[in-house]
Amino acid sequence: MEQVAIIGGGPAGYTAAIYCARADLKPLLIEGMQPGGQLVTTTEIENFPGFPKGISGSELMFLMREQAERFGTRFVSEEVAGVAFKRMPFQMTLGNGTKIEAKTVIICTGASARYLGLEAEKKLIGHGVSGCATCDGALYRNKPVAVVGGGDTAMEDALFLTRFASQVTVIHRRDRFRASKVMAERVMKHPKIRVIWNSVVVDLMDVSKMDLEALKLKNTVNGETSELQVAALFVAIGHKPNTDIFKGQIDLDENGYIAADCSRTNIAGIFAAGDVQDPHYRQAVTAAGSGCMAAIETERYLAND
Ligand code: NDP
Repeated sequence: MEQVAIIGGGPAGYTAAIYCARADLKPLLIEGMQPGGQLVTTTEIENFPGFPKGISGSELMFLMREQAERFGTRFVSEEVAGVAFKRMPFQMTLGNGTKIEAKTVIICTGASARYLGLEAEKKLIGHGVSGCATCDGALYRNKPVAVVGGGDTAMEDALFLTRFASQVTVIHRRDRFRASKVMAERVMKHPKIRVIWNSVVVDLMDVSKMDLEALKLKNTVNGETSELQVAALFVAIGHKPNTDIFKGQIDLDENGYIAADCSRTNIAGIFAAGDVQDPHYRQAVTAAGSGCMAAIETERYLAND
């Protein structure tokens, strides 16, 4: 039986692993098939303290993982398919059927990009619709593309896409961005980017039935509709916590985030850190900080066990 199982390999999971490993708890980190979490799909991270010149998301994750490994963390590259948290020890079943038992669990499964929910959207994912500019941006060299959203992700995506696209159109449903001022200003000043305010994407047109060709937009103020020819639409409208496997096993809030207080969940011995329990800050540095908190709470819990 494991002393500590950590589910999720992002900044929260790796930081929790570093602290648990240094406390000699020999953590087992179940990091899934695509370790690194959302940060491996971001470009440059300019606001993680200690990297004054910025660092790429993948490199930061690689370094954190290496640090966790150095102190004795063990890694399993499998998804968790199901959990049983109403028994002791806690049990996790992996995708390959392996069962893992642990005295304590730290949940760091993060959040995933949300999509618009349009009927044509699913069909066109990989054919012009994408939730990851850094993954797919280079496919649209010298073509017009659009980004929907008004937060920092949309700004970051739009700026990144200017490297490839002939023009980037940002479509936002209101008349001002939610994004931080510095990012919004960079977008507004960029010669390759134009912004369509007060508009939502109401349909995706795939005239050729294979690839996205145009967007149907609706103005939220006067209700007018228009068409915008684009080769790709990058959806950047926020995130959904990755908690499907925990439903019915642990308390979630009304938006599906794990309800946690200083990383403690409603079940003694189960802790949560990072975006899976944080709808407010969602930064790499806050995720890492909460991973540290969860590890310290775990250590104290085991000491009193
Ligand atoms: P946010 O929740 O901050 O922004 C989502 C945006 O999408 C909002 O502008 C919202 O509009 C819009 N939106 C939501 N639903 C819809 C919809 N159905 N149709 C159209 N538009 C919609 O998410 P982000 O992913 O941008 O950012 C999450 C967090 O991560 C933030 O705290 C952000 O600061 C941080 N982050 C930081 C980065 C950095 O510092 N380098 C990079 C990326 C993210 P509205 O504004 O009207 O609500």
